[in-house]
Amino acid sequence: MQREVTTNSLARCAGLEEANEDIPDTDRYRALILELYHLQSAPKEHQDSVFCEIAASYLPQLVNKYRISEGPVNIAMTFLNNVTNTPYFVRFSRLPEAQGLVDLQARRIIEAPDNGENFNYDELGAACQFLLTLIVYEGGRDFTDQDRQLLIHKANSWHDLFRGTGLHIEESCDLLVKYLEHDERTIMITKLIKRAQDSKLLQCGFPGCEQLQEKDGPIFKQCPRCKSTVYCNDDHQAQAWAGHKHLCFEPVF
Ligand SMILES: [Zn+2]
Ligand SMILES: [Zn+2]
Repeated sequence: MQREVTTNSLARCAGLEEANEDIPDTDRYRALILELYHLQSAPKEHQDSVFCEIAASYLPQLVNKYRISEGPVNIAMTFLNNVTNTPYFVRFSRLPEAQGLVDLQARRIIEAPDNGENFNYDELGAACQFLLTLIVYEGGRDFTDQDRQLLIHKANSWHDLFRGTGLHIEESCDLLVKYLEHDERTIMITKLIKRAQDSKLLQCGFPGCEQLQEKDGPIFKQCPRCKSTVYCNDDHQAQAWAGHKHLCFEPVF
């Protein structure tokens, strides 16, 4: 029978819920990857629910853990990379305690070995993907020319390692390089993604309703529990609840 992956089981893997055992990070990391692998075969609704609950419950802790971690890939990064799509992450990424992550991830990628030593393709792809997501959420970033060149060099080196394999890493590295080289189409795509993410906090949460909270318009009602979803009217809030309740968690931030 398929083992059910829950928020608690994932949090235990990551050491977010201490179980009084001293487990080396490498073992934790392996367990986490296995849990995430099992979670992928669960229904999409369950995955979304787990990632929303993790984001709501652990984002400040995860970001702190990320800051004191090392290397382009680590437990905290893997976790964060899986919850960037939730409205909780979008909201948290704007808070002061979430700033400076772009520079950290960029530095870790720059300092990682060109030959990808000790990391597999999934991990290197995730490292690049996470950096690009952070840049997009920040609304774009101009690196110093030197850092930009170093990042391009690294992403190209990693891309070359897996060229022609059709693996996801090819796409992640390629997108990052194109963004850094100011490729117009890629910049446009990142702007669209940014807008879609921002609208998660501004668009009425009733499926199918496209009303947006305008700057000078009537104030939308915020879900009092998650503070991460808004509604254009009470009716839409009430009707959306059956679906929303699986994604609605009280954030610790
Ligand atoms: Zn609505
Ligand atoms: Zn809610």
